Amino acid sequence: MGWSAQAATATSVGNERGRGGSVVRVYIRSKRLRFIMSGAAGFIGSHLCDRLIAEGHQVVGVDNFITGDARNIDHLRGNRLFQFREWDVCRPFDVDGPLDGVLHLASLASPVDYLENPLETLDVGSAGTRNLLEIALQHQTRFMLTSTSECYGDPLVHPQVETYWGNVNPVGLRSCYDESKRYAEALTMAYHRVHRLRTNIARIFNTYGPRMQLDDGRVVPAFIDQALRGEPLTVFGDGSQTRSFCYVADMVEGLYRLTLSDERFPVNLGNPQELTILEFAERIRRLTGTSAALEFKPLPQDDPKRRQPDISKAKQVLGWEPQVSLEEGLRDTIEYFQTLGSPALARR
Ligand code: UDP
Repeated sequence: MGWSAQAATATSVGNERGRGGSVVRVYIRSKRLRFIMSGAAGFIGSHLCDRLIAEGHQVVGVDNFITGDARNIDHLRGNRLFQFREWDVCRPFDVDGPLDGVLHLASLASPVDYLENPLETLDVGSAGTRNLLEIALQHQTRFMLTSTSECYGDPLVHPQVETYWGNVNPVGLRSCYDESKRYAEALTMAYHRVHRLRTNIARIFNTYGPRMQLDDGRVVPAFIDQALRGEPLTVFGDGSQTRSFCYVADMVEGLYRLTLSDERFPVNLGNPQELTILEFAERIRRLTGTSAALEFKPLPQDDPKRRQPDISKAKQVLGWEPQVSLEEGLRDTIEYFQTLGSPALARR
């Protein structure tokens, strides 16, 4: 592919919220590409836009703002490498001009959002994925699906490896998300097999960082918000369930490498450092300096008991593994939420 990697000061992700001076690998590539990205105003999407643009590529961003936030891409408006189109990708659409890649990040990824919008969640995984695959086909270009660790459901294999088929309740509350992603993966593989499309599938594990929505219900923003307001941290169940949290700059690096790779089968992207939700609550309490108590609440239905990615494949195929420690990433994230000012002001 003609890549060369070199150390350089971070340009696009991670440094704008106080990570100045951190060092990431930047890939120099002579050919400038033009991508279309669904979910461009979302948490991970907006960071990936930044990264692509920092590399000199063009991005046509698409979002209907059902969970995305215009503020995530405000800084890109007026940038000649960035165009934006407000559109629901579940409705067919065309793109003018040449395209070198279709990146499908649109998704209602937080349990609160998908439980509130199950039909939209199913639609974006099915109709949305199909529309974007059709665009890739028309332009004879590469396609990347951002799938999820939820494909493994409440896993019986630990850590989760890509060859594990999962333990998903097809009719439970979370099924609208899990099954829409599993269908999206099946559709992507069918386009690859039938049309020889160059496809990639990323299975994204819990990711956190600046630009998460403070009130989207996920544990990272929920605990930080509660800690900054001095309110009790709401632990669901007894807090013994585990998660493994990946900083967004690391995730973006993995996605960037994957979209330019030849790997057609799913690749796990996540940070293998696993901890219980109770341990995570302690970490947030220490980093924010809060003395707030814990408040135990019922465990949501089908909440996975253990989750940890096996990233051997990503290491081998992409030469990728996370670089940012949980401590470092959480400090940046907390600082970001603090710079938003009063938590109440940050609400949508
Ligand atoms: N969780 C919690 N308190 C909260 C929000 C979430 O204890 O206020 C738990 C949740 O039950 C799950 C874990 O934290 O076990 C991660 O939840 P999240 O919604 O962030 O993502 P998930 O991994 O479930 O998709």
